[in-house]
Amino acid sequence: MYLKDSKTVVIKIGSSLLINDKKIIREKWLKDFAKDIEHLKKLKKNIILVSSGAIALGCKKLKLSKKKLKLDKSQAVASIGQIELMNLFKKTFNKSKINLSQILLTLEDTEKRRRAINAKRTFENLFELGFIPIVNENDSIATSEIKYGDNDRLASRVAQISSADCLILLSDVNGLYSKDPKLDNKAKLIREIKNIDQNVENLASQKTGEFGSGGMKTKIDAAKICQFSGCHMAIANGLINRPIQKILMKNICTWFLPKISKLDARKKWIISSISPKGKIIIDEGALSALNNGKSLLAAGIKDVQGSFNKGDHIKILNNKMTEFARGLSSFSSDEILKIKGKHSNKINDILGYVSKSEVIHKDDMVLIK
Ligand code: GLU
Repeated sequence: MYLKDSKTVVIKIGSSLLINDKKIIREKWLKDFAKDIEHLKKLKKNIILVSSGAIALGCKKLKLSKKKLKLDKSQAVASIGQIELMNLFKKTFNKSKINLSQILLTLEDTEKRRRAINAKRTFENLFELGFIPIVNENDSIATSEIKYGDNDRLASRVAQISSADCLILLSDVNGLYSKDPKLDNKAKLIREIKNIDQNVENLASQKTGEFGSGGMKTKIDAAKICQFSGCHMAIANGLINRPIQKILMKNICTWFLPKISKLDARKKWIISSISPKGKIIIDEGALSALNNGKSLLAAGIKDVQGSFNKGDHIKILNNKMTEFARGLSSFSSDEILKIKGKHSNKINDILGYVSKSEVIHKDDMVLIK
């Protein structure tokens, strides 16, 4: 079983598990959840919790409605609520003698390679010290353009960076159903998904419940990131008591199986980027060169979209506009606009300075297969 076999496990807890719609904190649930974590510790697993709830608990403290919050106010509310959130965990987990720490991440902390490696080291050191990090987005600092915005994708990126084998998204549904379970009593829970195809995307767009801030869509996005980082991911019902125990015993949830396991850590980080900054559209010749393990040269580039800098994450599309690969660009989008379609030996003349000859080097590129 995937959870049992995992060494490092990331568990994401949605706000609705911690506080109900009458704004009452689900203390009993959290107390029991601490037992789940204690059990995983006994099984010698490294554990990371990703918990939402800063804004919800901040709203509770200030007696505000979450729906009416504007961004700048929500940043202040999150700052007030984050400490409430950690107090709640600390108070509850103390009884089980579980040591906790806090990590607040901004998008750049995972999307810049150096910062991602720093975060990885911090996780590893906390594991060694026997502490369980509780991660949330640094909502008080992040503005809408530079936000994850949902903890599903944040959790999947944390799973990738920490080389986790398994991510569990605890939500308010059992998983993904074959049909809308509220409308059709023949709807079946899908136990395993190997490919996230159009059918799965359509199922995920059904309104099968109140899915917290991200909805099912961000859970599917998270699953795609996990697939590329070699991590099993489950969507499971967290509202029930001892949800982790239930997964271990009954396995009632939807598991997404990983596609990639052979890539090195850096390439996994490249392929599972959360926010590629632009797109490069290539021709048939470049497509077959890339398929043969070659770098992307300017000559094979038909077009470039978006505005990005050297070193940014880029999607590579074929001429049918299907995403084919991802990589780190060695040139800015403005430079690529000038050199696209041109032979590599013309680049220095066109730009007026000496530069690399590959637009995306093969070592900085991962094909999506
Ligand atoms: N970071 C947000 C919070 O703590 C939650 C985002 C989410 O629900 O996915 O309130």
